[in-house]
Amino acid sequence: MVAVEQILQQAEQRCTNHGSRLTKKRKQVLMGLLLSEKALSAYELIEHCKAEFGESLPPMSMYRILDFLEQEKLVHKLNLSNKYVACSHISCDHDHGAAHFMVCEDCGKVKEVNIKKPVMSELHAAVSESGFKLVSQQLELSCQCNECADRSS
Ligand SMILES: [Zn+2]
Ligand SMILES: [Zn+2]
Ligand SMILES: [Zn+2]
Repeated sequence: MVAVEQILQQAEQRCTNHGSRLTKKRKQVLMGLLLSEKALSAYELIEHCKAEFGESLPPMSMYRILDFLEQEKLVHKLNLSNKYVACSHISCDHDHGAAHFMVCEDCGKVKEVNIKKPVMSELHAAVSESGFKLVSQQLELSCQCNECADRSS
């Protein structure tokens, strides 16, 4: 596990390389997501910033911050729940590719997963054979995490 501080530094560096800036507020939002195992909504993040840093951010500002972080590929948006997660590859050098997520239906924990290209191609083929077209390259899978599975067995 890479320490959050270290990830934040790398995020800052990435923004600098792109000629943008990870301002204090942007950093606070990113930190909230990095510390959370669950995806958080814009409103939950507003609450977080208020509780942790005494910052009251209006929803418009929060959405702008989240848009920025998404553009910098530091966070991902889950389309089904309309919530956000920190990217788990901020400190990696490799090509990111499409992001896919496993979401625990019981506790809300989210994990970013890599799905191999052949599997995705097969999925694309199956979808188009059925007369549909995938509109999002991002899969969000309903799951149960191991901890929840252990608890319920
Ligand atoms: Zn990612
Ligand atoms: Zn990685
Ligand atoms: Zn769970």
